[in-house]
Amino acid sequence: MSDTKTRTARCPICKKPTVQDYRPFCSKRCADIDLGHWFKGDYAIPGDPVDPADLPPADGTPDEGGENK
Ligand SMILES: [Zn+2]
Repeated sequence: MSDTKTRTARCPICKKPTVQDYRPFCSKRCADIDLGHWFKGDYAIPGDPVDPADLPPADGTPDEGGENK
């Protein structure tokens, strides 16, 4: 493996070199921007892995949502 640990990290927001205090960003501003993206859901990935337990049965069993209690 090549040694990439020592390379200069770049701010994912503006691509400037990161600043130690704000890693992985270059400034608090960029950190806040990134946080804003998260809050807005911009980072939601289509096809996000779904917990199989959340999926309805795929074997044709109807689940009418009946509270069968
Ligand atoms: Zn930045």
